[in-house]
Amino acid sequence: MAQVQAVCDSCGSALVPNAAYCERCGSRTRKARRMVRVAIRVELVFFLAVVAMVIAFTWIYTAQK
Ligand SMILES: [Zn+2]
Repeated sequence: MAQVQAVCDSCGSALVPNAAYCERCGSRTRKARRMVRVAIRVELVFFLAVVAMVIAFTWIYTAQK
């Protein structure tokens, strides 16, 4: 398990447990940043899968002619 971040990286004020944002300065916690990174990675993988599928279908279509 990852340790819970208790203090804001930017302003140093105490955070609510499992908070995604600092209540004082509004910056993302490390946990929220990690979640954003994971979401971007998932989106990228999904986008690449769609591109690969389009390329594959185009190749199949042109190969059948
Ligand atoms: Zn802060």
